[in-house]
Amino acid sequence: MRLACVAAVLVFAATLLATLSTLSVAERGMKVVIGDQQYTLLAGAASFMDDRMGERLKQAEALAAGIPPRMRTDWAALHPYVNEQLRLWGADDYLNIVVFDASGDMRLSARPLPGQTVLNVRGTDYFEQVLATRKSMISRPVRSRLTGEHSVIFSAPVIDTAGKVVAVVTASVDLRRSGFLRQIGTLKPGKTGYLFLMTADGVIIDHPDETRLFQHVGSAPGVNRGTERALDGFEGWLETRGKDGVDAIYAYKRLRSTGWILAARYPVGEAFAPMIAMRRSAFFSAGGLALAAGLLAWVLVFQLLAPLQVLRDSVVSIRDDGTDIGVLRDGRKDEIGELGRAFHALMAERERAESGRAASEKRLRLIADNLPVLISYIDREQRFRFGNATFEKWFGVEPAQMDGMHVAQLLGEEVAAEIHPQLDQAFAGRPVTHEIRIPLRGEPRILQATYIPDLQPDGSVAGIYSLVHDMTHVKEVEEQLLQLARVDPLTGIANRRMFGEALHHALDRARRSGKALALAYLDIDYFKKINDTHGHGVGDEVLKEFARRLSAGVRATDTAARLSGDEFVVILEEIGTRAEAEHTAAKIVEGMRLPFRTSAGLVQASTSVGVALSQLRQTQEQLLAAADSALYAAKGKGRDGYAFFEG
Ligand code: GH3
Ligand code: MG
Repeated sequence: MRLACVAAVLVFAATLLATLSTLSVAERGMKVVIGDQQYTLLAGAASFMDDRMGERLKQAEALAAGIPPRMRTDWAALHPYVNEQLRLWGADDYLNIVVFDASGDMRLSARPLPGQTVLNVRGTDYFEQVLATRKSMISRPVRSRLTGEHSVIFSAPVIDTAGKVVAVVTASVDLRRSGFLRQIGTLKPGKTGYLFLMTADGVIIDHPDETRLFQHVGSAPGVNRGTERALDGFEGWLETRGKDGVDAIYAYKRLRSTGWILAARYPVGEAFAPMIAMRRSAFFSAGGLALAAGLLAWVLVFQLLAPLQVLRDSVVSIRDDGTDIGVLRDGRKDEIGELGRAFHALMAERERAESGRAASEKRLRLIADNLPVLISYIDREQRFRFGNATFEKWFGVEPAQMDGMHVAQLLGEEVAAEIHPQLDQAFAGRPVTHEIRIPLRGEPRILQATYIPDLQPDGSVAGIYSLVHDMTHVKEVEEQLLQLARVDPLTGIANRRMFGEALHHALDRARRSGKALALAYLDIDYFKKINDTHGHGVGDEVLKEFARRLSAGVRATDTAARLSGDEFVVILEEIGTRAEAEHTAAKIVEGMRLPFRTSAGLVQASTSVGVALSQLRQTQEQLLAAADSALYAAKGKGRDGYAFFEG
């Protein structure tokens, strides 16, 4: 398991890192301890040397000051005195004691010098400085002019009672053989470490490599950063690389008395030999520890995660093999058990929601499929994405086939082009309803389509919902009703409403053609009497026959209508003249004189007719009123005849 491996690697790395960092802190700490120890030792040695040098200087001073006054310039008397002093000091340390007079000439030497040596020290620091300051001093290392040995000279003035320097006592110490250098040599650090001594300006006074003695430190090839810093005034310890390329701890300390620099070198390899050994073993044991910890972490994490693996396998088998989600409730009491139960609850909820959604979708589909309307969803490419079962009934296309079918493919190019503007409008976000006539299974149908845009939250239209009703039957009924409303039910000719429309159009035409029309207004004479004599039914029969004769007696383009009761009108178009109008009126009157065949036998009837010619800028009502007034006149003339409106 990857998680277990990662945990193991992390623990391994952390353990290793912790061990190594502890080790490096310890190493640093140890270095400081060794360095400090080195410097402390060196400081002790320097102090020892200072003491020894001070002691020797004091001895020289005491010798000079202790010379009895009579012997101060009596060189012959002074000689045994000085020899005695040298013997008292112990000759080991010193090479010689020499006394010079005030002019720098050697007056006596405690030890015999080779041959007839004549020595004058005028110009040397240890003579001139003492003469000038009247104080004792320690010289720089010098090569003895007599022996060629390197030595340091402690010089002190011999002052007479007048306070004048009359002689200078010099005690020269052979550096190589003097006790104090050898004594501090025992302080050298470790087996391979060593001490060395140089003057403040870098001339090596003591060094295990004899070839470098009395050379300047800079004369050997290479660089030692520590020594360079020490010459600049540094005191203390540091770790640096020596001229021989060996890393070492160098410590430097200046002598108070002479300003010389006492230095110690301790190669790191030796100083840290135990540390390096410890580091190696610590590294191995840390590696082993880290490996064990990593392995342990792997085992632990693997064990901890094992139930999680089981849970994962359960989820996979639920998804792939349709295993029941009950396996998620394994009854564990820990967090993983809770996770499983939470998964179970989530999946159970999802299953419920899913089955609820499926049931609701099925219900909706059932409703949609059983509605006698076309329900569909059309996407922006004008392709059907949903269609109910009615599509199959009307167009013979199964709902499954419809998905992705283009509108033109289903309805034909012609219909698609016809509904295009309405679809465009709906795609622009405006609901639209329109009527369309298309043949369905060979029959012309009138359909009413409504398109509702599927508006998205961002205002765009993803598609449109379309609802289509078959309006054919409704339209037929509507047309029938419309017809009924315009026809007189008893006689079957136009009623007052249709007459009104017809007169309107006829007057329009008359105005355009400039040819007047005539309006004849008719009323059956003494109709009440027919009703009274033969009954209302016979009256109706007469009315029907009257209407028939009226229609037959005029041109097909003329409109005959029953206004009410026994009142009728006829629009006589393109009449033009009064004579023509009167001729037609007379013909109508004539036609009604023939007896009417009824269920009660032949019935005699007659009609009176009032005629008026239409005039420019005359309203419909005015024309009707004119004809009515002519009818009144005809009745007045005794009935069974016509009258023309006289204005
Ligand atoms: P006039 O010569 O003055 O016209 O005398 P009239 O008897 O015809 O009198 P009028 O025209 O005023 O009377 C019309 C009558 O028509 C009155 C009414 O009883 C009768 N009538 C109206 N509608 C119908 C109908 O639908 N059927 C029948 N049978 N009679 C109707
Ligand atoms: Mg009448």
